[in-house]
Amino acid sequence: MPARPDAIADRHAFQQALVQWFHQEGKDYPWRRTTDPYAVLVSEMMLQQTTLAMVLERGHYSRWMQSLPDVASLAAAPESLVLSLWEGLGYYNRARNLQKTAQVIIDRHHGVFPTSLPELLALPGIGRYTAGAVMSFAFNLPAPLVDGNVARVLARLMDFHIEIDSPTGQRQLWKWAEGLLPTQDVRSYNSALMELGQRLCTPGTPSCLLCPVRPWCQATHPSTLPLKKPRRPVVAVEEDVLVARHNGKILLHQEQGKRRRGLWKLPAVHDRKIGSLLWSGHYTITHHHVSLRLHAAAETPVAQTDESWIVETELADWPMPSPFRRALNAVLHPVDDSNH
Ligand code: SF4
Repeated sequence: MPARPDAIADRHAFQQALVQWFHQEGKDYPWRRTTDPYAVLVSEMMLQQTTLAMVLERGHYSRWMQSLPDVASLAAAPESLVLSLWEGLGYYNRARNLQKTAQVIIDRHHGVFPTSLPELLALPGIGRYTAGAVMSFAFNLPAPLVDGNVARVLARLMDFHIEIDSPTGQRQLWKWAEGLLPTQDVRSYNSALMELGQRLCTPGTPSCLLCPVRPWCQATHPSTLPLKKPRRPVVAVEEDVLVARHNGKILLHQEQGKRRRGLWKLPAVHDRKIGSLLWSGHYTITHHHVSLRLHAAAETPVAQTDESWIVETELADWPMPSPFRRALNAVLHPVDDSNH
């Protein structure tokens, strides 16, 4: 079989094939209907580490845009509202950074979104990928981007046998992304590259027979690519918390740690007396596998530092990590199956 042409040397034909496929097959996501940099930024921040289905079907994006439709409303919003709207997406620092970014845009850029790479990279929590997404999707400027999907496509396209999450691997991927970039309609091109990774060049076995860039793909065994560094071993963690209720209120603890600061959860048991086990389950956060157990309080405890008695009927207004929300709902509103 003759050697396939190199995508970079033949980039105009490569770009054309990819964009043409996208115009025929591309999905109609709400953030693709807008060129508002704020809306683009919100969607990109939400989609990091989260599935499309979560952001779309559970309504996180639409709820956020209804409550905080622009930079000014986000900059001025109370942190508890920002965290509540983010609830269920995890990695709450992204929500805090989004708000800090909005405040910087109001304070230092007079409410106008910056358009240059250095200015965007100077905003809190914005890295090269997000800056590239805002530049290309909102402003149609020629900025490359590499996310997990694009990295997989490029590694296969170039038959790349270096770990893509290593510094060398990342440097090379960004170089290729830049080398393949068109000068026009970067918005469609970058969307197309990402969508190719989501829809056809998927993890595991890709759908090469349907792929618009197959004529340029150098991979001989695409399902073995990309290479990645070995995962961190999973660490088991036990979390025992207290369900203390009194006069229609429940005791909650406000987190101060870096990851969940500002969120409310059930307080740790510590050395307080516990009664029966009310609920147990598991959740995973990064490489931690947590066994969560909810215990009834044997007596009404005194609220300690960072703890407050919260009215149970108002619990929805208090931002809470979703594993705690699910567990607490199961205890406070058990499904009545007496008729079954
Ligand atoms: S031909 Fe297959 S491996 Fe190559 S880019 Fe297309 S889907 Fe991915």
